[in-house]
Amino acid sequence: ETEELFSRRQAHLAKPQKNYYEVPPQIERGWKEHMFDVEGRAYLDMVNNVTILGHGHPRLAEAIGEQWLRLNTNSRFHYAALSEFCERLAALAPDGLDRVFLVNSGSEANDLAIRLAGAHTGARNMLCLREAYHGWSVASDAVSTSIADNPQALATRPDWVHAVASPNTYRGEFRGPDSAGDYLTAMAPVLQSIDAGGQGLAGFIAESVYGNAGGISLPEGYLSEAYAQVRARGGVCIADEVQVGYGRLGHHFWGFQQQGVVPDIITIAKGMGNGHPLGAVITTQAIAGSLEKEGYFFSSSGGSPVSCVAGMTVLDVMVDEKLQDNARDVGDHLKSRLAALIDKHPIAGAVHGMGLYLGLEFVRDRTTLEPATQETAAICNRLLELGVIMQPTGDHLNVLKIKPPLCLTTESADFFADMLEKVLSEGW
Ligand code: PMP
Repeated sequence: ETEELFSRRQAHLAKPQKNYYEVPPQIERGWKEHMFDVEGRAYLDMVNNVTILGHGHPRLAEAIGEQWLRLNTNSRFHYAALSEFCERLAALAPDGLDRVFLVNSGSEANDLAIRLAGAHTGARNMLCLREAYHGWSVASDAVSTSIADNPQALATRPDWVHAVASPNTYRGEFRGPDSAGDYLTAMAPVLQSIDAGGQGLAGFIAESVYGNAGGISLPEGYLSEAYAQVRARGGVCIADEVQVGYGRLGHHFWGFQQQGVVPDIITIAKGMGNGHPLGAVITTQAIAGSLEKEGYFFSSSGGSPVSCVAGMTVLDVMVDEKLQDNARDVGDHLKSRLAALIDKHPIAGAVHGMGLYLGLEFVRDRTTLEPATQETAAICNRLLELGVIMQPTGDHLNVLKIKPPLCLTTESADFFADMLEKVLSEGW
């Protein structure tokens, strides 16, 4: 029955979308960090970076349902939830970033951020990193340079997009935690060519701990110097916090805090709605003002009463259940369990990240760092048999993307580490 249903899906769901697994389990229910298939089998969900509160949170369901029954409309009306939610988001952001645009996804947020950068500066060019993913919409796709899902990503860049080397401290061109200077030197000719082109630099977009590269910390000082270079040319700095932000790092609420920088524009989505479609751009009055001609921005569902209530309930639950602290404590514990695997299993090359934003990178050879791409896919398939949902990430799809709900218990973290150890012991 599952296969028959799946073939109906494959007949009509547009092809470009990739599936988890050849035939994913047919799931029908979720609770906290687990999902259950139609036969009642439990899977530990270690990959869903959207459901930060966990699956099926009753407080969120009740808040959304109640608001839905009372009123749902659009943000051209005046209602309490909109004023309150914007105020709360502004309070979470650094001083001076107090203007909020509400949208429905990370792609939309990044698209709008790029548009704001252009409107504010009157310039055209955008700087981004190699190995990045920022979304599927036209502008966010243009700055997405990951070749993992789109091998043509580099060949098809529009001329206003300038990608610089991925500042990957593990396997990048320069490597090592002290490589900021080398990466910035490599960035210089790109900036010079933008200067020479005469159309100016509108902005720079990056994740501040590099999720799409596998949860890699950028070289120390990299972002502060990159931001300075961009700002010296009048450009604005966009922190894509869609995946890294909102408490997942445990040690910080925002990813950019790890690099000690303050961006001009923050984009968020994913966890902020825990699965309810929600995204936002938070920026300064000066930058927001560049689009302030009335009527220029409107999203039919962005900032609806239901969205605002969903977003505020997520924040309330995060505080009440201390989920950022949990991400820090359980994440630190899990990271040390994963680090122990490196000593025993040559294929386990490195553990990246912090909190519940981790990556375990598999290599065929620790000197050449040849990526163990096929092995990583096979390890994920084997983990599924043992009841763990896991997927590869990074340009070479050789890093385990460990981004579970922030309510992950120590017991579940240990189960994951035990299963991983079991799989790796089977020999690779
Ligand atoms: N930015 C980053 C860093 C992301 O990881 C993603 C989603 N994987 C996006 C943007 C796009 O978000 P969405 O899928 O909500 O459009």
